[in-house]
Amino acid sequence: MSALKDRIRAAILADGPMPVSLYMLMCLHDPQQGYYATRPALGRDFTTAPETSQVFGELLGAWAVHEWRAMGAPPSFHLVELGPGRGTMMRDMLRAAGRDASFMAATKLWLEEASPALRQVQAEALEAYAPVFAGGIEKIPDGPAIIIANEYLDCLPVRQYVRDADGWRERAVGIDPATRELRFGVGGPVQLPPGVTPESDEAEAAAGLETLASMLAMRFAKQPGRALFIDYGPANHAPGDTLRAFREGQQVDPLAAPGECDLTADVDFGRFARVCENKGLAVHGPVEQGYFLDRLGAQARAEQLARANPARADEIAAGVRKLTARDEMGARFKAICVGSKGPAPAGFNQE
Ligand code: SAH
Repeated sequence: MSALKDRIRAAILADGPMPVSLYMLMCLHDPQQGYYATRPALGRDFTTAPETSQVFGELLGAWAVHEWRAMGAPPSFHLVELGPGRGTMMRDMLRAAGRDASFMAATKLWLEEASPALRQVQAEALEAYAPVFAGGIEKIPDGPAIIIANEYLDCLPVRQYVRDADGWRERAVGIDPATRELRFGVGGPVQLPPGVTPESDEAEAAAGLETLASMLAMRFAKQPGRALFIDYGPANHAPGDTLRAFREGQQVDPLAAPGECDLTADVDFGRFARVCENKGLAVHGPVEQGYFLDRLGAQARAEQLARANPARADEIAAGVRKLTARDEMGARFKAICVGSKGPAPAGFNQE
């Protein structure tokens, strides 16, 4: 039994059942025993798009150069990645962008990462680009910015709601009196947070989406920029019960081993778009990841890479297929871009 589990149990005994979001926050971010404080490295618990194919980061590097030009090619700007994992995506991005010397000269690289272990990995992977760890998005100084994040929004803690005959109630983590183990239960009647549009009798809402939207709105009201988020989740309704725990590639019970597994939930892209629009941001998308990457030239890049590496041609094609095919990651994953007013970013201008 982990000490974090003991502390969660003690907190519940003292204060009553805790919202799922608080449970998720403690599991992921507890400074001593949370997953981010103790996880050795990414890759064992799940794999992501940049770890699947270098084409992902390369296309995003070209995207960033394009957007920097669309912003008027400012001689200095902040390139920011939220939740960079092993630093693979940014390394692929900057290798691809490296052909544009003026872009590289203008780039000031910032990373925002919760895990000390991953900060170390990222510092090494990106050493050549002298990254600075922001310690909070709001700490990044004024100036034009391009912000990018893959599989970051799904880590934001979610509250969960369940509808019964009397209306909506909030799901909470309590203690089973018989077994003394953690278990889910429901509390008294509540209102759903604004902007949550359920599709069933279950709904999830990440409070962090609003906070993030506010920070971005403040930033992009004063200075040009855009923020690109890629993640999984529905475009048109709130996720239901999608909280999942992963350990060493296996999906496990989210209550079984707090702090020892990665926790994730689908992203409510529709709500994020509405919240951002309400705060005055220009919103593009969400569009499906396959559509987005194909518009950025995924297939052409895969063919070019395969010609240069004939021995790896099959592996390259399979990687890009995995990212773009609708029956793989292509439709479930989506891209959304929010920012200051201006023309649609590359990959979003629907025909
Ligand atoms: N972008 C990487 C990693 C995705 S996993 C990739 O695509 O491979 C999620 C990443 O976000 C991890 O690096 C995790 O440690 C980080 N993270 C999660 N919540 C965070 C938070 N609140 N602040 C900063 N980083 C966070």
